[in-house]
Amino acid sequence: VRELSGLKALVTGGASGIGLATARLLAARGADVAVLDLDPSAVPEPLRGYRADVTDDAMVRTAVDAVASDLAGLDIVVNNAGIGAVGTVEEGTDDQWHRVFDVNVMGMVRTSRAALPYLRASAHAALVHVCSIAATAGLPQRALYSASKGAVQSLTLAMAADHIREGIRVNCVNPGTADTPWVGRLLDQAADPAAERAALQARQPLGRLVSAGEVAAAIAYLASPAAASVTGTALAVDGGMQGL
Ligand code: NAD
Repeated sequence: VRELSGLKALVTGGASGIGLATARLLAARGADVAVLDLDPSAVPEPLRGYRADVTDDAMVRTAVDAVASDLAGLDIVVNNAGIGAVGTVEEGTDDQWHRVFDVNVMGMVRTSRAALPYLRASAHAALVHVCSIAATAGLPQRALYSASKGAVQSLTLAMAADHIREGIRVNCVNPGTADTPWVGRLLDQAADPAAERAALQARQPLGRLVSAGEVAAAIAYLASPAAASVTGTALAVDGGMQGL
């Protein structure tokens, strides 16, 4: 029997990068997996795609209700949808601050709020939030993004406390620089993307970027019954960035 057989999972932002790698891994381990994304039309079998924008509360509720109905329940929610933002406090406009918090923080709040009634009915309920090493690393030029991810980490701890007696575990993973389409898009903005990629890799203690599959493996662990006593933690998957 595969580790996640019989469990029903939802991955937000699951059409790309870390979310897609996670959705695939959860499915490979036996879970029934739904993906919620802005455009899930290219999501491969056996994943099921649901279209929703996590900044739209009504869309999120409709999609989560449809997932729970189609899969006949919900055990695992991976809150992964997120956007980047570059800049200092002086550079970021109010609109940019609102936008990054709306997607990265409120997106998780909306999805969790819609999913909690279903998770309460599960015997193996787990929420995993995709946070970032930016929450604690003090990275330059990332004030908006880092503040949003700091909020995600605090939200994870608070939710773990609120829901532990209901049998719902809440943890986060904190990736370092992970090789996803997002990072590819950032590198493509450089004058010489290949040289920029080499420089970025050289800056990593590990000498390379973290892979989306490595982050997915940590998420799958936190979501699994093997982690039944693990809640309120932040698991760094950062190639040694933290503390170095
Ligand atoms: P990605 O851009 O490859 O994928 C993000 C997915 O989220 C996309 O499919 C996108 O359509 C979806 N999404 C974005 N806004 C959405 C919205 N409003 N509603 C629904 N879906 C939405 O990015 P990724 O690198 O895989 O990042 C995934 C998560 O990992 C994010 O939360 C990000 O902050 C976090 N993270 C990434 C890195 C990295 O280096 N790649 C590092 C640390 C944390």
